[in-house]
Amino acid sequence: MEFIMSCLSVGDSGNLSIGGCDVAGLAEQYGTPAYIMDEDKIRENCRVYNRAMEEYYNGNGIVLYASKALSCKYIYRIMKEENMGIDVVSGGELYTALSAFFPAEKIYFHGNNKTADELKMALESGVGRIVVDNIFELETLEELAEKLDRTVDIMFRIKPGIDAHTHSFIRTGQIDSKFGVALETGEAEEIVVKADSMERINVVGVHCHIGSQIFELEPFELAAEKMMNFIADIKEKYGIELSELNLGGGYGIKYTENDSPINYDKYIQAVSKVVTGISEARGIKLPYIVMEPGRSITAETGITVYRVGAVKEIPGVRTYISVDGGMGDNPRYILYESEYEALRVNSPADAKTMTATIAGKCCESGDILIKDAKLPAIKPGDLIAVLATGAYNYSMASNYNRIPRPPIVMVSGGESRLAVKRESYDDIIANDL
Ligand SMILES: *Cc1c(COP(=O)(O)O)cnc(C)c1O
Repeated sequence: MEFIMSCLSVGDSGNLSIGGCDVAGLAEQYGTPAYIMDEDKIRENCRVYNRAMEEYYNGNGIVLYASKALSCKYIYRIMKEENMGIDVVSGGELYTALSAFFPAEKIYFHGNNKTADELKMALESGVGRIVVDNIFELETLEELAEKLDRTVDIMFRIKPGIDAHTHSFIRTGQIDSKFGVALETGEAEEIVVKADSMERINVVGVHCHIGSQIFELEPFELAAEKMMNFIADIKEKYGIELSELNLGGGYGIKYTENDSPINYDKYIQAVSKVVTGISEARGIKLPYIVMEPGRSITAETGITVYRVGAVKEIPGVRTYISVDGGMGDNPRYILYESEYEALRVNSPADAKTMTATIAGKCCESGDILIKDAKLPAIKPGDLIAVLATGAYNYSMASNYNRIPRPPIVMVSGGESRLAVKRESYDDIIANDL
């Protein structure tokens, strides 16, 4: 039996197995709901990117894990061991990474509205790059650097004017976006020139990130082309050398049978061709390349296991299967109507005889995990695994309805361990006065 996630199989017990661990056994041991992730697969994904960086750019670059996909100390330790850099987008992510002793110089700090406190924290901890979003931030940073008597290496977030075909909430490269400065309007050029004249600011490069869950090659190639030409234009016009090109993340993953992601290696190969071509054609040095995959590192390494409560059949309408989690641990349906697939943990390969909507336990009609899921017969007490929940689930989780967040269990080579404990009711009232 082939599942959409390569780390899943049917174990000797007949139950679903992940990374050599019996999922029903893990549910028994750690309770439900629980996020379960295959650590070996996370590491393998990092290696695919690092190898591609070697192969297509001769190692002249760095792969950053975009840690908003899943941020906790454990994952930063993995990234450190796998020789990855990371990108963080808030003081909280930065704090978590530093608490896990992640090397500051390999941290890139993003965000369209970093506060003065966050910028100060970034400067004092010595993060490698600050990816500046706008003029206001640039000026704040210059002042801060002056006050702290240091210089700071920055890149600019550029909107290259690419409209990637994906959900509008996760599309960021077009002009009408809150992120970055625009190419077409001359805004990007202006800010680079301004920064170049600043005493404390060292402009090392430019960055773009055109969206997320993208399946086509073209938007990535087009973005690389625009960015490379921008670098060449700036060099020609002002003699300013931008030596670093950060091409962002956004590589699509397989949430359901209907998704057909391209091999990541292929994206990188295609983009490297564009970068190399323009570098030769326009006589500029090959920039140091930065990539920032998030979703594609962790999404397909994780599942969420739930226990089924009520199964409610509304004759002629639909059947609802209610589980012990929901939008609190996975808000992606309510945010984007994202699609997922689920398996019954016990004998997952049995014929799918049932069509039912898997609903969460929150007091919202929109609290749904999967609409019209196809499953083998499900009864109260069964375990269900929702697949490919390793990115943007735990990191987007909330305590809505004061439901504690599930633990993250990591499995590796048939062994399991906790990476994040289950929240307790005491955790939930911890800040209540
Ligand atoms: C979200 C984000 C990423 C990662 O996107 P994925 O779709 O998870 O690969 C990379 N860079 C920036 C700046 C981002 O905001």
